[in-house]
Amino acid sequence: MDKPEYCVVALSGGKDSTAMLLGMIERGMQIDCILFCDTGLEFPAMYAHLEKLEKETGREITRIKAEHPYEYLMFDAPVRRGNDSPIVRRYGAGSLGYGWPGPRQRWCTTRLKDMPREKFLRELRKQYRVKEYIGIAADEQYRLERERNKNPGHVHPLVDWNMTEEDCLQYCYGHGYDWNGLYGQFRRVSCWCCPLQSLQEALTSDIPTEYPIPENKRINKYREKWCA
Ligand code: SF4
Repeated sequence: MDKPEYCVVALSGGKDSTAMLLGMIERGMQIDCILFCDTGLEFPAMYAHLEKLEKETGREITRIKAEHPYEYLMFDAPVRRGNDSPIVRRYGAGSLGYGWPGPRQRWCTTRLKDMPREKFLRELRKQYRVKEYIGIAADEQYRLERERNKNPGHVHPLVDWNMTEEDCLQYCYGHGYDWNGLYGQFRRVSCWCCPLQSLQEALTSDIPTEYPIPENKRINKYREKWCA
């Protein structure tokens, strides 16, 4: 017998996935789970945004986390590396931690988001035919071409609705969601140490004064370990 359909909204909390969620609710679309993978490194304004979303939509957000926190993975996790690895050459064979993530070394996405999400979905797939709603905007075609986004179980409503990134931001603002001004300050409002911003930007940004978030102590720890 065919498994029943189960619709999961992948919510990062940013403008695109928020616009997707609000649009789906407005259109009366089936939503069985709103899934947020918490890296533990979001801005406080993002956590406040999620709470506001829950309160105003009346929908619960399912929050999942990886087994190990970011800090452990970055500094302390045992990592197997070849002798020709630049880390081994510079810091020696027993060097722990994955270090600062980079565009070609996005261990953070894999370990803090993809792996816990897959684990969660794997359980659901035992019972359901899972449909995942992904917030890729209409002007992000290049993302749709990536292998991982060609999954037949993925749906991209923003593309169907022809909503660009800017449309999504304005749509959220129009619904009263402004992330306490985060989008006016940062190009990306995800983890403070996102490799999609430059390391220099992360190390020199005004975050400590503008957003006194506890994660900043990690920047100092990073400096001590990797920038000595
Ligand atoms: S640091 Fe950036 S790439 Fe890594 S998990 Fe956070 S948002 Fe994703």
